[in-house]
Amino acid sequence: MFYLKEQRNIIRMFFPDSREYETMLESIGIFLEKEILLNAKRVDQEAIFPRHNLATVEVKQIMAMPFPQTFNGLGLPLPVYIAALEMLAKACANTALQVDVQNMVCEGIRLFGNDRQKHHFLLENGLVEGTRLIAFALTEHCCGSDAKSIQSRAILSGDSYILSGSKTLITNPGEADFVLVFAKAEKGLSAFLMPTKTAGFDVTEAIPKLGFRGNQLSAIRLKDCVVPRENLLGEEGKGLDCAKQILNAGRLSIAAIAVGIAQAALEKALSYSKKRKAFGENIAHFQMIQEKLANMVTQITAARLLTYYAANLKEKGENMVSQVTQAKLFSAEMALRVCDDAIQIHGGYGYTDAFDVHRHWRDARLLTIGEGTSDILRLLIAHLELNAV
Ligand SMILES: Cc1cc2nc3c(=O)[nH]c(=O)nc-3n(C[C@H](O)[C@H](O)[C@H](O)COP(=O)(O)OP(=O)(O)OC[C@H]3O[C@@H](n4cnc5c(N)ncnc54)[C@H](O)[C@@H]3O)c2cc1C
Repeated sequence: MFYLKEQRNIIRMFFPDSREYETMLESIGIFLEKEILLNAKRVDQEAIFPRHNLATVEVKQIMAMPFPQTFNGLGLPLPVYIAALEMLAKACANTALQVDVQNMVCEGIRLFGNDRQKHHFLLENGLVEGTRLIAFALTEHCCGSDAKSIQSRAILSGDSYILSGSKTLITNPGEADFVLVFAKAEKGLSAFLMPTKTAGFDVTEAIPKLGFRGNQLSAIRLKDCVVPRENLLGEEGKGLDCAKQILNAGRLSIAAIAVGIAQAALEKALSYSKKRKAFGENIAHFQMIQEKLANMVTQITAARLLTYYAANLKEKGENMVSQVTQAKLFSAEMALRVCDDAIQIHGGYGYTDAFDVHRHWRDARLLTIGEGTSDILRLLIAHLELNAV
C-alpha cells in the first residue's frame, strides 16, 4: 500500500474519529503510485518540469489541503497535508518541490496579505489550487543565509514601487506566473507580489545542478520593474518577518519531502537486498546489510514522528518554530544518510542510472541547504531554546 500503515497510525493518533482522512489519503496514494511514480525517473533524467503532474486533480488537492475553503482550499488539518506531501515526494520529489514553494508563498499571502491580495492571488488566480504557479525570490548572489544584506532595491514613485536588482538560485521563476520578490525599500526589507510578465523582469540564466533536475534553477534580473503599491505584501520594512514565516511553513514541507525521499530509497534497498545474491545468499541475510536497513527504517520513523508532531502543533496554533526547525534539520540530514545507505546496499549498480537510486540521494542533498542550511537551523534552534528558559 502506497499510504503506509505508519502514516495511518500517526493520523489516527491525532484524529481518532476521522476515518475520512484515511480514505482520502489512501485514494491519493493509489493515484500517486499509479500515475505519478511511473514518470518520476524520466522527469529527472530528461529534466522535464512536471507541469502535467501539477495539473492533475489529486496533486491540486494536495496543494489546496491546508487552506481555508474561502480560498478554494480543502480546510484540512496540516498533518493530513504533510502525509499527502510525504507520499507525493516518495512518488516524485520534483513535483513535491513546487508544491512546497506554492504552499509556503500562499501561506505568506494568507498571513500577511490584505483582503484584496488574498482574493486576487489565492482565489482569482488559483494559487491555492495551483492553477497558476508562483516562485519565491529572496536569495541574491551576495547573500542567502544573510537575507538582511540583500541589495535589490524598491523605490516608491507615486502609486508604484520601482524594483531593481538581481536574484539567483531561484526555483522555477521561468515556469511561474507570479513571483514574490524581496527588495529593500526606504523602511527596509519588503516583500512584493508581481507577475513574471512584468516589463523588466527577466530570467537570465538556467543554473545546472545536482538534483531536483525537473525543477528549473535560475537567476533573475529586475530592471526598473513597476510594481503597484497595492502589491506590497504586509508592511514596508517588515519583509524579514514575512520571509521568516514563509520559510517556517516551507521547512515543514521540506521535512515531509525528506521523509518521502528517504522512504523511496528504503523501499528500493529492501527490495534489492531480497533479490541480490552474494556468496550464495541473498544479501538481506547478511547482518551488516540488516544493520543498515534497521538504522534506515528507525531514522525514517523518528523523522516522520517529529515532522507530523510539528505539523500538529502548528495546526493547534501553538508556538512551534523550534519544532518545525528541528523537523527540517533532522529529516533533511536523515534523508541524506538513508539515501547514501540505499546506494551502498545496491553496490556498484547504486552508482549507475539502472536502479534510479542515486536520484534520491541527489535530491536529498538539496534539503540540508535550501530554505535554511543545517548550520543556520542549528543556530536558530539554539537561539530559541536559550531564550525560552
Ligand atoms: C536547488 C536550489 C533551489 C533554491 N531555491 C530557492 C528559491 O526558490 N528561492 C530563494 O530565495 N532561494 C533559493 N535557493 C537558495 C538557498 O535558499 C540558499 O542557497 C541557502 O539559503 C544558502 O544561502 P547561500 O547559498 O548564499 O549560502 P551562504 O549563506 O553563503 O552560506 C555558505 C555556507 O556558510 C554557512 N554559514 C553562513 N552563515 C553562517 C553562520 N552564521 N554560522 C555558521 N555557518 C554559516 C552556511 O551554512 C553554508 O554552509 C535555492 C538553492 C538551491 C541549491
